[in-house]
Amino acid sequence: MKNMYRKMASEIASSLKSVLHRIDGAVARRSQDLPNIPPRLVAVSKTKPVEDIIVAYNAGQRHFGENYAAELEEKSKNQQILEQCKDIKWHFIGHLQRKNVNKVTGAPNLYMVETVDSEKLAQTLNTSWGKQKKPERLKVMIQINTSKEENKHGCDINEVGKLVDFVMNNCPVLELKGVMTIGLMNHDLSKGPNPDFQSLVKCREEICKAKDLEIKDLELSMGMSADFENAIEVGSTNVRVGSTIFGERFYGNKKSSTNPASHTDSVASTSLGDPSSKETISGTSIDVTNSLDNTTESIQKLTVKN
Ligand SMILES: *Cc1c(COP(=O)(O)O)cnc(C)c1O
Repeated sequence: MKNMYRKMASEIASSLKSVLHRIDGAVARRSQDLPNIPPRLVAVSKTKPVEDIIVAYNAGQRHFGENYAAELEEKSKNQQILEQCKDIKWHFIGHLQRKNVNKVTGAPNLYMVETVDSEKLAQTLNTSWGKQKKPERLKVMIQINTSKEENKHGCDINEVGKLVDFVMNNCPVLELKGVMTIGLMNHDLSKGPNPDFQSLVKCREEICKAKDLEIKDLELSMGMSADFENAIEVGSTNVRVGSTIFGERFYGNKKSSTNPASHTDSVASTSLGDPSSKETISGTSIDVTNSLDNTTESIQKLTVKN
């Protein structure tokens, strides 16, 4: 195990370097009309151990993304992280249930919550952050379900204006920084740019027009391992990259592997990644037909093959 980990450590550093290089390449290709903002890389460390985060941190990475409230809470309060990664910046990128809001707002070094998708959640976050008595407002993005998939979270694209208004007018300790989407994941780039990314770009334009904001003041969080370069080419300012940096995610070691129900559980709580990918859980092959939403809904989308 130790040796395996050693190998991974150097791999993490070199993968990180290669992702940063590819980001530069994509920036060079993007349209000159787009705001000249260097895209931020969020290294998505969900399911990965604290040691891997420290390796990436020591290689220069500062922004990290987690999408389970409990996992963010645990990692952000980890003693090694607190001592060795003083300048770490956490992004919450998963579906946030209101009962878990305090776990997220209480996470040390929380930088941004990218997944506000309802007025109720915005309200709860606002109240909870207010109680933290922090000097600065909490940066948030509104997650939009651009692909209109039932099993994905995010605000309906037609409701975004209302939610923007709500955050700006009713949530004094939240600071609206941008809009975020996951989008369809197996888009074929030979057919042109991902329509989800284009919807998000257009949505930002409309928000800016309605609210008299400058385009450069509203960020776009889009792009993951499979498509971050394409996302940057069309304007992403925040890419969330996990497996390309840290390696594939394995879900085998968290729960008992004998009970099929617990397989479903542990996958559901970590159901992510490329929809076509097969992830191995204790020798059980599982099609992760759904994508990123860490919800009970996604249980139904998973098929466990024995
Ligand atoms: C897991 C996850 C990512 C990273 O996915 P990769 O394909 O591993 O890069 C990005 N965004 C969200 C919301 C995620 O849950």
